[in-house]
Amino acid sequence: MTVNLRSKMFLEFEKKEILEQAKGYAFDYLNSTRERSPFPSAEAIINLKNFEEPFPKSTGDSKNILEHLNRYGADATVASTGGRYFGFVNGGVLPVSIAARWLADVWDQNSALYVMSPLASKLEEVCESWLKELFGLPDRFVAGFLSGSSMAILCGIAAGRYRIFKNLGWDINTQGFYGAPEIRIVAGRQAHGAVAKAIALLGFGIDRIEWVDTDSQGRILLSELPDLDENTILILQAGHVSFGSFDDFESICVKARSAKSWVHIDGAFGLWAGASAKLKHLTKGFDGGNSFSLDAHKTLNTPYDNGIVLCDDSEALAQAMQTSGSYLVHSENRDGMTYTPEMSRRSRGIELWAAMKYLGRDGIDELVYGLHQRAVQMSEELKSFDFEIVNEVVFNQILVICDSDKVTNKIIKNIQSSGECWAGGAIWDGKAVIRISICSWATTEEDISRSARAFVAARSKALSA
Ligand SMILES: *Cc1c(COP(=O)(O)O)cnc(C)c1O
Repeated sequence: MTVNLRSKMFLEFEKKEILEQAKGYAFDYLNSTRERSPFPSAEAIINLKNFEEPFPKSTGDSKNILEHLNRYGADATVASTGGRYFGFVNGGVLPVSIAARWLADVWDQNSALYVMSPLASKLEEVCESWLKELFGLPDRFVAGFLSGSSMAILCGIAAGRYRIFKNLGWDINTQGFYGAPEIRIVAGRQAHGAVAKAIALLGFGIDRIEWVDTDSQGRILLSELPDLDENTILILQAGHVSFGSFDDFESICVKARSAKSWVHIDGAFGLWAGASAKLKHLTKGFDGGNSFSLDAHKTLNTPYDNGIVLCDDSEALAQAMQTSGSYLVHSENRDGMTYTPEMSRRSRGIELWAAMKYLGRDGIDELVYGLHQRAVQMSEELKSFDFEIVNEVVFNQILVICDSDKVTNKIIKNIQSSGECWAGGAIWDGKAVIRISICSWATTEEDISRSARAFVAARSKALSA
């Protein structure tokens, strides 16, 4: 690197302007999301062509670069941090968590090993212990901090795969699948797509999954559960992406425990219900499972990407994620990579710690229960406007159905282009439905009423067209 370029970069920090500029844009953005259209305008999307330019040959000007990014970027964002975005299961951001992340980004800590960042190691340790306390899990549980539930599901099932094979006298890490004894995979028919992905990545093959039929809300039917045994990995769900429903952990985990099966629970957004006194009944008995996956970036409202795997068999998880290399200095202290597939990782524990320290147990309860209250409000208001709700609104998801697929799809289109709120679609029982997910702390009662009115307007428009 030329001395010139290096000096130019040192100067960026010394002038103290570069982050100030970003900070100005950031506050403008954050304070505009309450009123901002949840989805970018057609014009903002067209303006994205301003990013299509030849790859620069020479160095640029940081001020102009940030200016360009903000000018054409901010308006083309999906304002999921505002109060009227109900797509997928996305979650907002807690102010303290985004601020802690900024600071952490500046520190640029690698949380692979203790020696790479004692701070990152300590905060992972603290978060692990607070999470266990929050969910009432025994001390033997360990946590891995990774990008999201897709990875966390993979890790939980990989730990189960390691343990079951080990019990059969087979080391899957060294011996692989050829000639291995058979392991069964049992999952509910309504399992999230990330489950099938993990099964495929782990080499079991999706066609080998023994799918269990589910009820009208996507919950595993107890009567359909096959006999379980010690060679079985059973995958359950806390929070179905559309229905928001929970499997009956209490009954199923007791069976699985006595059969010595491994139970993984995909609780990406739903497991957090266990942190609310009034919703805890939904996750009753979940602690009979062996591994859990959940997302702080969903219900807890940390920024992306922030997933967690919790596992009651630290050896199985560590062995499944095994890594070695002569230069790796494992220590007495927590080495984050022990429980994750990645080595180099940003320090997600920092923003997770900030979120948990800020909210505390009471605040998390309030946040989680508040999402449910807003979901109930939305379903009540929609019903009062003669919309049909097809699911039991046990948590934060609402499914709306209209007279015909044609009308439903038109309403979805109208809502998405309304600038008032944003909701997606799904298929339920072969019919088109509208999916509403309440995931952000920023959603107010007024946001819900305003959005319900937007549904009415979208329906009138659909029927008159
Ligand atoms: C979101 C979600 C996933 C996938 O999680 P990512 O964090 O997006 O990887 C898996 N299962 C359920 C139930 C989810 O809601």
